[in-house]
Amino acid sequence: MKCPICRKGIMKKKKDCFKEDNIEYEYLQCSKCNEEILTMKQLKVLAGKYRKLRKAKEVTFAKWGNSLAVRIPSDIVEELKIKEGKHGLMMKDKEGIRIIPTT
Ligand SMILES: [Zn+2]
Repeated sequence: MKCPICRKGIMKKKKDCFKEDNIEYEYLQCSKCNEEILTMKQLKVLAGKYRKLRKAKEVTFAKWGNSLAVRIPSDIVEELKIKEGKHGLMMKDKEGIRIIPTT
Protein backbone atom coordinates (compact mmCIF):
# COMPACT_ATOMS: atom_id res chain seq x y z
CA MET A 1 0.00 0.00 0.00
CA LYS A 2 1.34 3.43 -0.99
CA CYS A 3 1.25 6.34 1.44
CA PRO A 4 -1.96 8.36 0.98
CA ILE A 5 -0.24 11.52 2.30
CA CYS A 6 3.10 11.84 0.42
CA ARG A 7 2.28 9.22 -2.24
CA LYS A 8 5.98 8.20 -2.31
CA GLY A 9 6.53 5.90 0.63
CA ILE A 10 5.22 2.40 1.29
CA MET A 11 3.00 1.81 4.32
CA LYS A 12 4.60 -0.77 6.59
CA LYS A 13 2.97 -2.70 9.45
CA LYS A 14 4.17 -1.67 12.90
CA LYS A 15 3.25 -2.62 16.45
CA ASP A 16 3.14 -0.48 19.54
CA CYS A 17 1.62 -0.59 23.00
CA PHE A 18 -0.34 1.86 25.15
CA LYS A 19 1.69 0.97 28.24
CA GLU A 20 -0.66 2.60 30.77
CA ASP A 21 -3.52 0.33 29.57
CA ASN A 22 -1.31 -2.63 28.51
CA ILE A 23 -2.98 -2.58 25.08
CA GLU A 24 -1.02 -3.60 22.00
CA TYR A 25 -2.05 -2.32 18.59
CA GLU A 26 -1.00 -2.55 14.98
CA TYR A 27 -0.75 0.39 12.59
CA LEU A 28 0.80 1.39 9.29
CA GLN A 29 3.72 3.79 8.98
CA CYS A 30 5.02 5.43 5.82
CA SER A 31 8.65 4.58 4.94
CA LYS A 32 9.23 8.14 3.64
CA CYS A 33 7.21 10.73 5.60
CA ASN A 34 6.60 8.57 8.72
CA GLU A 35 2.85 9.30 8.66
CA GLU A 36 0.99 6.77 10.82
CA ILE A 37 -2.46 5.46 9.97
CA LEU A 38 -4.85 2.76 11.16
CA THR A 39 -6.89 0.77 8.67
CA MET A 40 -10.57 0.20 9.56
CA LYS A 41 -9.67 -3.38 10.51
CA GLN A 42 -6.85 -2.24 12.81
CA LEU A 43 -9.16 0.39 14.34
CA LYS A 44 -11.87 -2.19 15.00
CA VAL A 45 -9.39 -4.52 16.73
CA LEU A 46 -8.17 -1.64 18.92
CA ALA A 47 -11.73 -0.49 19.74
CA GLY A 48 -12.60 -4.07 20.66
CA LYS A 49 -9.72 -4.24 23.13
CA TYR A 50 -10.85 -1.00 24.79
CA ARG A 51 -14.47 -2.18 24.92
CA LYS A 52 -13.28 -5.31 26.74
CA LEU A 53 -11.11 -3.25 29.11
CA ARG A 54 -14.05 -0.93 29.96
CA LYS A 55 -16.02 -3.95 31.22
CA ALA A 56 -13.10 -5.06 33.36
CA LYS A 57 -13.18 -4.60 37.13
CA GLU A 58 -10.29 -3.50 39.25
CA VAL A 59 -9.29 -6.03 41.91
CA THR A 60 -6.82 -5.93 44.77
CA PHE A 61 -4.54 -8.84 45.57
CA ALA A 62 -4.65 -9.82 49.25
CA LYS A 63 -2.22 -12.01 51.18
CA TRP A 64 -3.53 -15.50 52.00
CA GLY A 65 -0.77 -17.64 53.58
CA ASN A 66 2.05 -17.82 51.05
CA SER A 67 -0.38 -17.15 48.20
CA LEU A 68 -2.44 -14.19 47.10
CA ALA A 69 -6.22 -14.07 46.95
CA VAL A 70 -8.59 -12.07 44.76
CA ARG A 71 -12.19 -11.32 45.71
CA ILE A 72 -14.58 -12.11 42.85
CA PRO A 73 -17.28 -9.42 42.56
CA SER A 74 -20.83 -10.66 43.32
CA ASP A 75 -22.29 -9.80 39.89
CA ILE A 76 -19.70 -12.05 38.24
CA VAL A 77 -20.36 -14.78 40.84
CA GLU A 78 -24.09 -14.64 40.05
CA GLU A 79 -23.70 -14.43 36.28
CA LEU A 80 -21.35 -17.43 36.19
CA LYS A 81 -23.28 -19.31 38.91
CA ILE A 82 -20.12 -19.88 40.94
CA LYS A 83 -20.70 -21.43 44.38
CA GLU A 84 -18.41 -21.91 47.40
CA GLY A 85 -16.80 -25.38 47.29
CA LYS A 86 -17.21 -25.75 43.52
CA HIS A 87 -14.20 -26.12 41.24
CA GLY A 88 -12.61 -24.28 38.40
CA LEU A 89 -9.44 -24.12 36.36
CA MET A 90 -6.92 -21.30 36.59
CA MET A 91 -4.32 -20.69 33.92
CA LYS A 92 -1.92 -18.04 32.78
CA ASP A 93 -2.58 -16.59 29.35
CA LYS A 94 -0.76 -13.87 27.44
CA GLU A 95 -2.82 -11.11 29.09
CA GLY A 96 -2.71 -12.43 32.64
CA ILE A 97 -4.80 -14.95 34.58
CA ARG A 98 -7.90 -16.74 33.35
CA ILE A 99 -10.34 -18.63 35.60
CA ILE A 100 -12.89 -21.05 34.15
CA PRO A 101 -15.57 -22.42 36.53
CA THR A 102 -16.09 -26.16 35.88
CA THR A 103 -18.38 -28.04 38.31
ZN1 LIG B 1 4.27 9.17 3.30
